[in-house]
Amino acid sequence: MISNLEITLRKTEQPKKKPDWNNLGFGKQFTDYMFAMQWNSKKGWHDAEIRPYGSLTLDPAAMVFHYAQEIFEGLKAYCAQDGSIILFRPVDNLNRLNRSALRMCMPEIPAQAVLEALKQMIDLDRDWVPNTPGASLYIRPTMIATEAAVGLHPSNEYIFFIICCPVGAYYAEGFKPTKIYVEDQYVRATAGGVGEAKTGGNYAASLKAFSEATKKGCTQVLWLDALEHKYVEEVGTSNIFFVINDEIVTPPLGGTILPGITRDTVLTLAADWGLKVSERRISMDDIMAAARDGRLTEAFGSGTAAVISPVGEFVYQDKNILIGNGQTGTVAQRFFDTIQQVQRGLLPDQHDWLVRIN
Ligand SMILES: *Cc1c(COP(=O)(O)O)cnc(C)c1O
Repeated sequence: MISNLEITLRKTEQPKKKPDWNNLGFGKQFTDYMFAMQWNSKKGWHDAEIRPYGSLTLDPAAMVFHYAQEIFEGLKAYCAQDGSIILFRPVDNLNRLNRSALRMCMPEIPAQAVLEALKQMIDLDRDWVPNTPGASLYIRPTMIATEAAVGLHPSNEYIFFIICCPVGAYYAEGFKPTKIYVEDQYVRATAGGVGEAKTGGNYAASLKAFSEATKKGCTQVLWLDALEHKYVEEVGTSNIFFVINDEIVTPPLGGTILPGITRDTVLTLAADWGLKVSERRISMDDIMAAARDGRLTEAFGSGTAAVISPVGEFVYQDKNILIGNGQTGTVAQRFFDTIQQVQRGLLPDQHDWLVRIN
């Protein structure tokens, strides 16, 4: 893969008004700049540019609209105390995007060159990186099929772009355990399908279960395996962990689960700390039994948006399972505190996870 990407810079003449830093919300306001580059089978990646944030013009026949050939990523940048900006594990995100690309018959991006472009763009958008406690800059790399053609085949043209938005602290009022609906009818992904790719269709397909869970007072869906509707997979846009008898248990990556970078961060820290960890299949019946006799002390999700999201309660086949009295457990709290501090440069970066923009 050629990685000497020539990047044009078009500066903005009208910087936008900065947001209300104390009221950021999530994903509604975007920065001054975006990165974009084009691909076709003749030229490969070309026309790379950092330009003012703005609309794309697409042919109504663009294949993404018809056949959903689309992939994306989500990562964050943080403001360090010395004013530098820190990206957390960006290369892992770009490499994962390339694995999603292969699954969806899309071209790989030159990860190192794109990282350099991202750093340059965030440097221009530097004043958009919040330094309010808990807040960060959310970064959304995306690739879509743009060839104007109806008739199913892998597109011969793509655009890859990156947009960014400042986001507030996920837990503005402290850690709040969530109530989660265990979905035993709809499924997210089947073996051999696209569950391990971060591709839009997975999320469109999840909306129905999500909206029904919301009606039941839950904020997320816990997915079970598609074959037997028995084994735990993951939650919404997070991976899932349980603490059972002082052992940390998470389902293995078997093709149907998104290989979360936060998941990997949790597993790496758990190993550093000498905690007992097991990546194994676990059934909802086992979870119920462990909850009943007090062995299940905690459950929490892991993902870029919330980092760690403690589960206070599962709703499963009209039974409510309270976990840790609905309070945040010490294991979840420890992962949350540590990961947040590493991300902000407040703890040593022992695994080379940080990329700094000075
Ligand atoms: C993005 C995502 C995750 C979490 O991945 P991170 O890299 O930790 O943010 C987990 N599950 C699904 C379905 C996702 O889309």
